[in-house]
Amino acid sequence: ALLFAGRRYAVLGLGNNGAPAVRALAAMGASVRAWDDNAAARQALDNIPGVTLAPFESLEGMDALVLSPGIPHMLPRPHPVALMAREAGIPILSDADLLYQAVRRAGSQARFAGITGTNGKSTTTALLTHMLATAGIPVAAGGNLGPASLSLPCLPDNGVYVLEMSSYMLERLQDLHFKVACLLNLTPDHLDRHGDMDGYLHAKWHIFDSQRSGDVAVIGFGETPGASVPRMVDKLAASGDRVLTVSGQSPDADLSGAGGILRDAAGEIANLAEAPALPGAHNAENAAAATAMALALGVPRTAIAPALRSFVGLPHRQKPVATITGVLFIDDSKATNADSSSRALNCYDRLVWIAGGVAKAGGIADLAPHFPRITHAVLIGQDAPALAETLAAHHVPYTLAGTMEAAVPLAHDLARQTGANTVLLSPACASFDQYKSFEHRGRHFADLVHGLAGTKGEG
Ligand code: ADP
Repeated sequence: ALLFAGRRYAVLGLGNNGAPAVRALAAMGASVRAWDDNAAARQALDNIPGVTLAPFESLEGMDALVLSPGIPHMLPRPHPVALMAREAGIPILSDADLLYQAVRRAGSQARFAGITGTNGKSTTTALLTHMLATAGIPVAAGGNLGPASLSLPCLPDNGVYVLEMSSYMLERLQDLHFKVACLLNLTPDHLDRHGDMDGYLHAKWHIFDSQRSGDVAVIGFGETPGASVPRMVDKLAASGDRVLTVSGQSPDADLSGAGGILRDAAGEIANLAEAPALPGAHNAENAAAATAMALALGVPRTAIAPALRSFVGLPHRQKPVATITGVLFIDDSKATNADSSSRALNCYDRLVWIAGGVAKAGGIADLAPHFPRITHAVLIGQDAPALAETLAAHHVPYTLAGTMEAAVPLAHDLARQTGANTVLLSPACASFDQYKSFEHRGRHFADLVHGLAGTKGEG
């Protein structure tokens, strides 16, 4: 079991990471002072033995401060409590670091693999976890998207923790050492926080800070812009790390998925056409990265192809739902912006596209290169008229369906009429005008598709 007896922690921010951290620390015997300005967040942690709920006037006697991902600890706008910690010389940690410390205190030598990047983190995390599990290696996955790091079990010495790391978590790394670390890709996102691409790259690059001679650094190749990348790669190599470049498109990477074939210097590893849950070049990148990490962590080469074949994928990311009279329905509800939808649209030849909701700045104009493959678009949600305008300008036939209830049967009819064999829900929009979340939207779509399959006598 993981133990923190006698340690004292301050936890500020009691959300998705903070609240489980408080519970876990208390359960492991630590004494915890916790605070959140939101009374409802505090209430959820009332009456837990070992936990005191009080605002922080000082951090005296605390071993560490655990800050929620959203609370800044650095310039230009550090939170006053973070400043207090810095002045008192108290380390500021993420829960991922606490997990590492707890595992080591429990005497386990389990290894840690960290994954960061702008896109594909969850898919790569899930795929690597699946590869390790199918090879019989004890594995637990968590981090950014959950489950919270501190809710993971204690693994034996041969185990691997696979952690999806956000830049927020990476900025707070203390002791956590990644045997294998991966920076998948970087595209402009979160620039509000990091200032510019170089700042963003430096934040992500912290994933390699803890690495030592003999560790493995996996880097998305070509798809990672930024002037300082080559210099940083050289620095890593000079410090003794094994640097492996991966790519979904370029055959020049150490491990490449170009042309749908995964290969490295030793030859072919797998044919991605046999991996149904990993369509597209973006998933070739994810598969290349997961494979490089899995091999570095001791998964046998021959176990990679079977694991790619049996990977079922994550919900709401280009997930096949059902085939009805020859038309395959795909749920890509996770695509809440045009860039994500472009990845999915790129994968199918003739399709009926269901899109709409709350559009992001720029709308769907960037998707124009994909329009020729869309036989008909079915639009839902508040910004359907704006999307319709863009489609009309490119002569793409469309129908304003309003709701998902109307869109699903209509899309099926239109697919049959226009000779499309795919109906793709990839909204390119946020869901909050009609749904609680993209998951909620995706489940509703899948329910309607299964209902339609029932009436058509197919599953
Ligand atoms: P993250 O956890 O980083 O948000 P996910 O694995 O959940 O990433 O994928 C989210 C969406 O991002 C996918 O639906 C797909 O559209 C897109 N995507 C996935 N992998 C990549 C990649 N390697 N490069 C670019 N886009 C990607």
